[in-house]
Amino acid sequence: MQNKYYREFGELLYRHFPYKVQKISINAGFTCPNRDGLKAVGGCTYCNNQSFSPGYSGKQRSVTDQLTDGIAFFSRKYPEMKYLAYFQSYTNTYDDIDKLIALYEEALSYPNVVGLIIGTRPDCMPDDLLDYFSDLSKRTFLIIEYGLESTLDSTLEFINRGHTYAESVEAINKTASKGIYTGAHLILGLPHESREQVLAHADKISKLPLTTVKLHQLQLIKGTVMAKQYRENPEWFNLFEVDEYIDLIVDFAERLNPEFILERFVSQSPKELLIAPDWGLKNFEFTAKVLKRFAERETFQGRLFKE
Ligand code: SF4
Repeated sequence: MQNKYYREFGELLYRHFPYKVQKISINAGFTCPNRDGLKAVGGCTYCNNQSFSPGYSGKQRSVTDQLTDGIAFFSRKYPEMKYLAYFQSYTNTYDDIDKLIALYEEALSYPNVVGLIIGTRPDCMPDDLLDYFSDLSKRTFLIIEYGLESTLDSTLEFINRGHTYAESVEAINKTASKGIYTGAHLILGLPHESREQVLAHADKISKLPLTTVKLHQLQLIKGTVMAKQYRENPEWFNLFEVDEYIDLIVDFAERLNPEFILERFVSQSPKELLIAPDWGLKNFEFTAKVLKRFAERETFQGRLFKE
């Protein structure tokens, strides 16, 4: 059952599948143009890619082996469950097109895999690959998820993101115009962004043809450029207390297009990599707090959305 405050990812899945569906994260061993020198060498200042690769997504392992492990974990408990292969780590559209397609098709041919989610950068979607995705989306469930991170070019430059907001808008428009579900990922609380600037992201992305939106709090990860900046210039950062962040999420959702699926609000980097903030909450515990806050404030997604 869906809640009455915001549109959950389950709603999208329910439209497509009459059974439980679980994402399985894949690290297909790609690199990233913001790390290998095409755009930059250092990568985004907050990025330590280990932080979003679950333990079973070993870099050297095949897509099939990773699916075998991931699915074994869930299928013991839920034998009827089916799966979406989530190409999550690094830039999953950044390689030779034939190699990319072979890896996607390998995932789709795995038993009980019923769709794909492909995470990538907005400046990494060549037209021929987009044509492939357009055909693919007619035969399977597919989301292309773009990391926007911010709608402010000054922030994108500061975090060495290597692309502009205009490039994000172009990629989203092109992808959605091919009939593909298109997602956006934002980080809330990047350096120098005021609360109002963060909330203005909601107004801006609400005009785009998006299906899903993922929000994450800024996390400071060991070994990153941002960790060093934080040590040297903590005043650049606003690391939210949990209740403050929950109110920010509710404010953001109020301004967000009511058609969008609000897929998640937080990410959890492994404890051994995380410097701050350490809220000690599991995803479902955080979601419960968000729902409670929506109820207390008697509000809902899109309440302040302006066409
Ligand atoms: S966050 Fe993504 S785009 Fe940025 S350096 Fe890391 S892998 Fe590359």
